[in-house]
Amino acid sequence: MSISLNEPFILGSERDLIAEALAGGTSGNGVFTNRCQDHLQKSLGVPRVLLTTSCTSALEMATILTGVGPGDEVILPSFTFSSTANAVVLRNAVPVFVDIRPDTLNIDERLIEAAITPKTKAIIVVHYAGVACNMDSILSLADRYSLPVIEDAAQAFGSSYKGRPLGTFGTLGCLSFHETKNVISGEGGALIVNDESLIDRAEIIWEKGTDRLKFKRGVVSKYEWVDVGSSFLPNEITAAFLYAQLEGAPAITSRRRAIWDRYHAGLAALERQGLLMRPSVPIDCEGNGHIYFILAPDRQTKERWLKVFSVADVGAVSHYVPLHSAPAGRRFGITRGSMSITDDTFDRLIRLPMHARLSDEEVDIVLRMIEELVGQSAIALP
Ligand SMILES: *Cc1c(COP(=O)(O)O)cnc(C)c1O
Repeated sequence: MSISLNEPFILGSERDLIAEALAGGTSGNGVFTNRCQDHLQKSLGVPRVLLTTSCTSALEMATILTGVGPGDEVILPSFTFSSTANAVVLRNAVPVFVDIRPDTLNIDERLIEAAITPKTKAIIVVHYAGVACNMDSILSLADRYSLPVIEDAAQAFGSSYKGRPLGTFGTLGCLSFHETKNVISGEGGALIVNDESLIDRAEIIWEKGTDRLKFKRGVVSKYEWVDVGSSFLPNEITAAFLYAQLEGAPAITSRRRAIWDRYHAGLAALERQGLLMRPSVPIDCEGNGHIYFILAPDRQTKERWLKVFSVADVGAVSHYVPLHSAPAGRRFGITRGSMSITDDTFDRLIRLPMHARLSDEEVDIVLRMIEELVGQSAIALP
């Protein structure tokens, strides 16, 4: 028996649409790209979405668009993927790491203000595991200091905060369609442009710094190099893959939520007994079942449990060596305030198998393994 951490969910309809793309021209910004963008603009209720080759590219576009430059500081959590910070470092700016909340593991909104200096240029928030940051507090603080907010919503497609999709709150939002996410195109992403005043420039940066889009629309008679930019847009094969997945997204999300709920119900008693901790989702947040994690009592116990899972061929893993303690984080970044929750989370967090092909029986096998593990665990939570 083997239970994997993650498996891509291929619907079957991808094949036909990819064949259609092959027949119709495969370079970027064609029929399927536009279909995906229209779909996302409608479903998210936003003025402009641009497909990108990855969420990493979308984050890089976002730091260019918000004017992050040499010596500037950008506030972000340390408990995230390298791409969130690379987008800052590539602008020769400094990532300023702030601690996370112990419940959602998202940036602690109460610690952001103390990290702001005259050099602060933007705030990047990450919706870990597809559960929203406290956007009301973050947006009102950002507003008081006139700072743009970039949402790294890589894990959050299909999630909402107070009924509105994540990625639509900040100045800009960034989605990932990487194979390990809920809805996929192999590699892929999107930039959500919520601030209409940034649309023109976003389109130019997206098209290698040219006004090619204006030319295609017949607004200008030739296109030329007008600004910085790069090769941020995906090919049509990727967009065709994504379009099929977008159509299947509601079904994928609902299956993942059901698995998430099954883990959560199955572990409630163990949490009550103080043997482990479960994720905590604030009432104004609806998740997308992207990640289910548990927090072991301490690092030693986590490592012992991970070993047992690994021997049993169950894909349970830890997550994120905190960026502030990673080699590049120490070289490029700075911390403001204590990082104790971030460090403690890395010490204790275990992600459990989570994907839309996981059966109820497999979830129950994992649950029974955890019951056995905590039965053997001498140390309870404080
Ligand atoms: C996956 C992920 C990314 C990177 O997404 P890609 O599409 O692979 O570039 C960035 N940030 C977070 C929080 C992620 O989980």
